[in-house]
Amino acid sequence: MIEVVNLTKRYGDKKAVNNISFKAEDGEILGFLGPNGAGKSTTMNILTGYISCTDGKALIDGIDILEDPVKAKKQIGYLPEIPPLYVDMTVKEYLSFIYDLKKCKLPKISHLKDICQLVKIEHVYNRMIKNLSKGYRQRVGLAQALVGNPKTLILDEPTVGLDPNQIIEIRTLIKKLGKNHTVILSSHILSEVQAVCDKIVVINDGKIVANDTEENLSMKLTGENKLSAKIEGESEKVLRMIKGIKGVISAECISEHKGVGTYNIEAGEKTDIRKELFTRIASHGWYLLELKTSELSLEDIFLRLTMGEDIDLTDNDDEEEAED
Ligand code: ADP
Ligand code: MG
Repeated sequence: MIEVVNLTKRYGDKKAVNNISFKAEDGEILGFLGPNGAGKSTTMNILTGYISCTDGKALIDGIDILEDPVKAKKQIGYLPEIPPLYVDMTVKEYLSFIYDLKKCKLPKISHLKDICQLVKIEHVYNRMIKNLSKGYRQRVGLAQALVGNPKTLILDEPTVGLDPNQIIEIRTLIKKLGKNHTVILSSHILSEVQAVCDKIVVINDGKIVANDTEENLSMKLTGENKLSAKIEGESEKVLRMIKGIKGVISAECISEHKGVGTYNIEAGEKTDIRKELFTRIASHGWYLLELKTSELSLEDIFLRLTMGEDIDLTDNDDEEEAED
């Protein structure tokens, strides 16, 4: 488990990280989402003991990274934003060097072989790193993080600069690693954390603006009572029918094309009109072509959260700023 408690990092007057707290449970893939300059790398550098914090603490499996860095670091595999590769080494030489550096005790040959199999770099094992593609270099970066079998992986923007195929491969790999590691992954790409992570912490300007599962984030902003429907039938009559359903507060036809209208419908809180809507459409001889709850995508959530709208989804109540 990784726990961050009231962490602050100050650079002169600027707080790069401003009193943030969050937790990643064992076996969880936590997405750390935020725009450039939000404080992601700073937080990760603190978590991995690379830089110190100004205030607060970071615990890796209950061990304070500042109090017992050697023990805590043994639990962590870190892939920084720019992977620390020595390009004039072969993959084999490099991983062997990392193995020695980490003072790893596992049987060397088989351990490194297992890792290379996992991240699929066996066939470039004897190649110089400088001759590898960006995607392969990133895999070598992941491999070095896995040396010593750390329980926790901290990956800073692991797909930046990769092409779409490489991105998919690395994401698949991370999902696989997430089955037996606790993973914290940072990204400024919304679809990425949506695709890979169990839980999302959104950070902006050094502060956490949301901390929840992606699904819950959407739920908190909208509910099941907002629907979007595509119905084939004469729009005026359809609209009148919808408005006649008990519990409907408002309905509008937002577009119509070739007899198919798209309708936004809002019902009272915790009112589910979907069955009734379906039955009525059928009984009129119309067709329901699409029906969905109009949950916000993470993209919308993100925009709302970081554009200064007055929504705060953190579970903390201690949000009163102690600006000193
Ligand atoms: P992210 O990884 O989310 O893009 P960073 O953690 O790298 O963001 O940076 C957060 C903020 O802290 C930025 O405004 C950045 O300019 C600032 N910052 C980072 N490192 C330093 C440093 N060594 N000195 C001064 N400011 C820094
Ligand atoms: Mg960064």
